[in-house]
Amino acid sequence: MDKKQLIAKLDREGILPADDLAQLLRGLDSEETELLSGCARRKAVSLYGKSVYIRGIVEFTNYCRNDCRYCGIRCSNTRADRYRLSKNEILSACEGGYRSGFRTFVLQGGEDMHYTDSDICEIVKAIKDRWPECAVTLSIGERSRSGYESYYAAGADRFLLRQETSSPSHYAYLHPETMSLANRKRCLDDLKDIGYQTGCGIMVGSPGQTIENIVQDLLYMKDFVPHMIGIGPFIPHKDTPFADEPAGDAGLCLRVLSITRLMLPKVLLPSTTALGTAVSDGRLQGILAGANVIMPNITPPRGRCRYILYDGQIGTEGDTQEDLKRIGDDLKSIGYFADMGRGDSIM
Ligand code: SAH
Repeated sequence: MDKKQLIAKLDREGILPADDLAQLLRGLDSEETELLSGCARRKAVSLYGKSVYIRGIVEFTNYCRNDCRYCGIRCSNTRADRYRLSKNEILSACEGGYRSGFRTFVLQGGEDMHYTDSDICEIVKAIKDRWPECAVTLSIGERSRSGYESYYAAGADRFLLRQETSSPSHYAYLHPETMSLANRKRCLDDLKDIGYQTGCGIMVGSPGQTIENIVQDLLYMKDFVPHMIGIGPFIPHKDTPFADEPAGDAGLCLRVLSITRLMLPKVLLPSTTALGTAVSDGRLQGILAGANVIMPNITPPRGRCRYILYDGQIGTEGDTQEDLKRIGDDLKSIGYFADMGRGDSIM
């Protein structure tokens, strides 16, 4: 089968043999690219219409106990200027977000054990008490099952935890010895089992990643059936061991997004900040490749200028209102609109 036939088959059946997925990932000419992204876009529109869900991210701490080789807030980066937001600062970020229309708050941070399980519960409860109609998403890394259960009981709705890669050896290349793919997957299984709308995902073009690794990730995700999938290009950070590694290819990232949409049609698929950093209109290209979520930053200035995962990260200085306005205008220019609703999973 030629690549156009493979794309048509993927569109119809939602799956292809590993070798065929690899072929689509390796490269497409412009006609094939348009065919793939068109199929993915139509699939997304058939389920979600031309709406793009908007979520507000609050980056509440850049302290982290982990030492992931790609990440700017890894614990051994002594040049990272560390901060933590208090519960009140987090609440006022949500308050500002609420007034701007956000109905999902994503609390993201390094793995900062300064916030105990009961601290996280208190923060979640306070947000849910004040705005019961809003969804709370946590993105705080690996915790115990009982911790995850307690946040869920406190009202957390969703959890994002990328597997980063589905190959144990590649996982070991990216992470410190204290971390393992097995534990990452244990966390993802627990989260889903507890009842969270669960998100996994990968970086595209992380050092050492092969096309076969991406295929493995696609097959893992097809099997896991997450509610959300975060996919963005790797971008180096100057104060990490991967400082001199090349950034991931944005075209490849867009192909991965489109293939993901065709393999898991209902999934909530953000057009990520990293994609928007890699290419100036990256977030729009992501939507046109089948993504349907955008997550602007609503972190107060004190935090957002310090939460730097990679070089050139966008959204670290802008103002949320301006950002929202630009996203709304940009979406309108391609015939889409920003949907500020909760946007729960339809799985
Ligand atoms: N501590 C949380 C949140 C991590 S930051 C957790 O472990 O889940 C969110 C995501 O940013 C990570 O999952 C990773 O995929 C991405 N990220 C980190 N460093 C990056 C880099 N240099 N380039 C692109 N994405 C990066």
